[in-house]
Amino acid sequence: MPIVYVSEPPAAADLVIVGGGIVGAATAFHASRAGLRPLVLERRPALSTLTTAAAAGGYRLQVESREELELIGESVELFLHFEDATGQREHDAGLRQHGYLWVTTSDEGVERQRRLVEAQRSWGLTDVQLIADADLRKAFPFLDPGTRQARFRQADGLIDPKGIALGLAAGATMATFAVGCDVVGIDLDGDGVRALRTTKGTVATRSVVIAAGPFSGLVARLAGVHLPIETVRRQKVVLPEVPEVPRGAPMTIDDDTGAHWRPAFGGAFLLFTDPSTPPSPPVDSVPTDPAFAFQLLDPQSPQAVARISPFWRAVWGRGAPWLMQAGHYTMTPDRQPLIGPSSVPGLLVNTGYSGRGVMGGPAGSRILVDVLTGKLEAGANPFRLDRELVERPHLDPL
Ligand SMILES: Cc1cc2nc3c(=O)[nH]c(=O)nc-3n(C[C@H](O)[C@H](O)[C@H](O)COP(=O)(O)OP(=O)(O)OC[C@H]3O[C@@H](n4cnc5c(N)ncnc54)[C@H](O)[C@@H]3O)c2cc1C
Repeated sequence: MPIVYVSEPPAAADLVIVGGGIVGAATAFHASRAGLRPLVLERRPALSTLTTAAAAGGYRLQVESREELELIGESVELFLHFEDATGQREHDAGLRQHGYLWVTTSDEGVERQRRLVEAQRSWGLTDVQLIADADLRKAFPFLDPGTRQARFRQADGLIDPKGIALGLAAGATMATFAVGCDVVGIDLDGDGVRALRTTKGTVATRSVVIAAGPFSGLVARLAGVHLPIETVRRQKVVLPEVPEVPRGAPMTIDDDTGAHWRPAFGGAFLLFTDPSTPPSPPVDSVPTDPAFAFQLLDPQSPQAVARISPFWRAVWGRGAPWLMQAGHYTMTPDRQPLIGPSSVPGLLVNTGYSGRGVMGGPAGSRILVDVLTGKLEAGANPFRLDRELVERPHLDPL
């Protein structure tokens, strides 16, 4: 079942989705399932080539709140039955249940993990394990002897973000997609949204969903709407060939620093969510900084991945080649997404996944469509835009 592309957008559409990343594709999929005929406008020449393409491809139910657990749990059900759920066979979710392993070397970390696992179990996540000392190193022999404890859930793991986005787009049988089509204006009248202006002509519509990832704030501003989001650069180091990386290894996170790695290709992806990174404006080509790679790879660095997985010392020692990628996290104050109507009638928002849009976006988009069609009352949506946005303490470093 191929994705249905149009070279020019039509003059009118019932529903227009701005942005063709995973969130736009998922919105189109659920809208299509609800009997709507969405038009997706993507300004780049191909779908899912901005943030979605930079993602690490991790999914996990080991999260920080009950709301996130329910949201991501629904996405994971879709990933597990991806071909049947989307009705297409061309694109695979690439799901591999390698597990997520959060490792600590400190007393404080041991206690912090116990508290978080207790909370997660109280939310119904009963299959998270706490593994300590010799048992830990027996189960994961690549860990340093100084590691004390880990929280681990085997059913968490890895997915292919782009495969999921394209599979959802292909499964959106009522949707059409226009690429190379930049939304540059939103026209309003007394009833709210009236039309979208694009680089390929004007589309009359009364219903628009902003799913423009880090650019969502700029698109909303075209209609005079302010979104409470900040965009923060996140980088990824790609080492395509590292024989030391165990092929079946979990996403392995240093729970004391936030540095993490996962197997990818014949090597690994290395990432680190530095909490001191200041916000920066969204751009189409997100710059990378070699200092970031040194921070993770140089064993002298406090954030070195070698701190808990010593084989990385040898990788550094022989100068294995790497390359880098970057994207922006679209952050909200409470690190929960913004899903639902804005203050302008007909203008809805689906963004702010705060670094979790691959695993959260598919289910969040179902909520958006349920609100749009009236199936879900606005007040029953925990991610509505007019909720009280309170800063939450970080319980995990990602
Ligand atoms: C390094 C890194 C690692 C990550 N790892 C993970 C992970 O392991 N798991 C996870 O769940 N999440 C992860 N994330 C977060 C995840 O990638 C994002 O939350 C998700 O991709 C957001 O999807 P999106 O569709 O909202 O945005 P995008 O993929 O950015 O798509 C938005 C689209 O809108 C288009 N657009 C913008 N403005 C306009 C306009 N005016 N007109 C038309 N089109 C427009 C853009 O061109 C773009 O294609 C990671 C992010 C980064 C940066």
